[in-house]
Amino acid sequence: CGIVGYIGFRESQPILIEGLKKLEYRGYDSAGIAVQTARGLEVTKAVGRLVNLENRLTGDPLRGTIGIGHTRWATHGKPSDANSHPHTDNSLKFSVVHNGIIENYLELKEELMLAGHRFLSETDTEVISHLIAVEYEGDIVKAVQKAVRKMRGAFALGVLTEHEPDRLVAVRYASPLIIGVGEGEKFIASDIPAILEYTRDIYILEDGEMAVLTRDGVELLTVEGSPVAKEVFRVNWDL
Ligand code: GLU
Repeated sequence: CGIVGYIGFRESQPILIEGLKKLEYRGYDSAGIAVQTARGLEVTKAVGRLVNLENRLTGDPLRGTIGIGHTRWATHGKPSDANSHPHTDNSLKFSVVHNGIIENYLELKEELMLAGHRFLSETDTEVISHLIAVEYEGDIVKAVQKAVRKMRGAFALGVLTEHEPDRLVAVRYASPLIIGVGEGEKFIASDIPAILEYTRDIYILEDGEMAVLTRDGVELLTVEGSPVAKEVFRVNWDL
């Protein structure tokens, strides 16, 4: 029930884990992270408390300066390692964290299975990574827009692809998501406390808006692709 994402110059794993801890108040039953490492997009996840994920990472940390993290509150599929986020597609090149519900996921899943896709979880979320992979023609932003058009429900998304290791895409549709703007680093999160240690400059996404994060900038647009102009919100309170 929490999302954190990072693109910048620091190791992402500790930022993701600390951010997820700040979102624990939202409740969760499992957690996971995906990081762009030297070996490609790598995922580690674990059912239960965040400490289970941390223990798994201790022996085998994910090193890299771009990543997404998630705490899950199961709605579709029991709490388990396999159902934890991030979810990937069959090529393992796309990785998605999701808060919310995809109402038409069964329909979408059946279509994808008929087309040969194999599913590793019982979640509604896993269809999103597959849809994005199907729509991908070299531009992750367009692929996410096309995938989102097929989805009904409530969602906040963080998306990474190994094909474009210097971009992080975020979408908000009836589930909260904010963007943090730092110098040479950018963040996404379900709520401000997750990133307040690093920046006080925030964009608050509205429903139907998305953000494309690079180390140096944030592009805001609608899921239809029109540019969005928005003022930075300066957070003037402390935790
Ligand atoms: N519906 C998704 C799932 O059950 C996401 C739940 C959440 O918001 O954490 O995996």
